[in-house]
Amino acid sequence: MRQLVLIAAITLSVLSLRLAAQEYPKEVIDAAHSISSHRLMDYVYEMCLPKYEGRGAGSEGYNLIASWVVDHLSQWGVQPAGVDNSYYQKYPWPYTEVHSPGGVELVIMQKGDSITKPYSIPDQFFPGSNSDSGVVEGEVVFVGFGISAPELGYDDYKGIDVKGKIVVFASESPAKSDHPDVEKWVPYSLHQYKFKNALEKGAAGVLYIGTIANPSIPFQPGMVYAHIGDEMVKDLFFGIGKEYGALRNRIHETMKPASMNLKKNARIVAETTHHPQTITSNVLGIVEGSDPLLKDEVILIGAHLDGQGNPGVLLPSALDNATGVANIMEVARALAQLPEKPKRSVAFFFIGAEETGLIGSTYFVNNPTIPKEKTVCFINLDMVGNGKGLALWGAESYPHILEAFSKANNDFIHRSFSSSPARMPRTRPRSDAAVFLKAGYSAVSVGTTERVKPVNYHHPNDKPELTITPEIMEDASQMLFLGIWNLANR
Ligand SMILES: [Zn+2]
Repeated sequence: MRQLVLIAAITLSVLSLRLAAQEYPKEVIDAAHSISSHRLMDYVYEMCLPKYEGRGAGSEGYNLIASWVVDHLSQWGVQPAGVDNSYYQKYPWPYTEVHSPGGVELVIMQKGDSITKPYSIPDQFFPGSNSDSGVVEGEVVFVGFGISAPELGYDDYKGIDVKGKIVVFASESPAKSDHPDVEKWVPYSLHQYKFKNALEKGAAGVLYIGTIANPSIPFQPGMVYAHIGDEMVKDLFFGIGKEYGALRNRIHETMKPASMNLKKNARIVAETTHHPQTITSNVLGIVEGSDPLLKDEVILIGAHLDGQGNPGVLLPSALDNATGVANIMEVARALAQLPEKPKRSVAFFFIGAEETGLIGSTYFVNNPTIPKEKTVCFINLDMVGNGKGLALWGAESYPHILEAFSKANNDFIHRSFSSSPARMPRTRPRSDAAVFLKAGYSAVSVGTTERVKPVNYHHPNDKPELTITPEIMEDASQMLFLGIWNLANR
């Protein structure tokens, strides 16, 4: 009896495998198999070369990588889907060229003499991507989260004189993500707001706590800044009977500012040139569907092509986001080479200026080159190349999308597969998928789970050999290709 059940089970599973395989023509399975970690890693290594300058929005390096993508698309027969029958959609993005890492020092006065303690890049301090050029020296004042929110009864600058001084503050806001009113604090948690507020309060410079590159801090004439790490934070609070971590926790708990003059001087040096007139771009290509009616409907797949740039230190931006770009390039190549295309069209969106504040995707949803009402969904890939499991975040809200991709995974890939409902983030939006969701599109994100390597987020060590597991890229890309095949033929 047990044997019979076993045989029946085996027969059933063989049958279902064969059924699954039959739904994909041989050419489609061949094309899926042609997606290889080899090719994916070749693209990634190319994108991380110093000549592309970390692909910073507005830089010549970004323009070079954009034309490199365009060359591939046109070579593969992917049609242009940008403006005026080109692959490009251009828009202004002011760019700050950073000539050197500059420096950050603590200046200690002792018996009339000054002694300086310099800090080193990248972990003790990190240069600002959009700092004004110059040298600023002055007293350092701790201003909590750098927020003045009168309607919320909170002001980090209340009763504190920061004119001509250097302010030091933390990212985010007093309201943690589980705070009932966290939405009200979102506008104040933006870097853009904090730096503007510091300048309005008369600060001459900012030391921003946390040494990660952050290209979305805006350039402001007269504002010199840098990011600082634990070592300098500890030094700044030394000898005044307070500890930064405890102080920050107290602000979270009481929702009351704890600003104070730290009675120490610091010096920030930045060597930059701001170019207010630069133009950057999105890159778009499309593989037309084969069904005369359904080809008007478009599945849009995106990945941000820009990286964190080269603010005096190269940020290769391998995991974030050469991986996503490579993944969708392989899907584009495999799809364009199919003798028989799927019924619906599939467009590829290489998004510009994500790191500078989701500029490229915002520009696109306001000026779509593909009609919104014809866009089936937007699928985002950001940092898809480190882990053991696959995910399609947001897809629980769209059962037909979830089914198309989980089926691809079940038929061929066999990784663990996670999902979640689509929802707008309660804290500050950080992804291009959120931009599309907010604009009323169906939007999901391909992701990986069970990370196996460090992420080295916005750090010079986001290098291919340190942060990427090539096998998961291959599987993510094959899953994406087959899932798109399913979705495009529904
Ligand atoms: Zn990213």
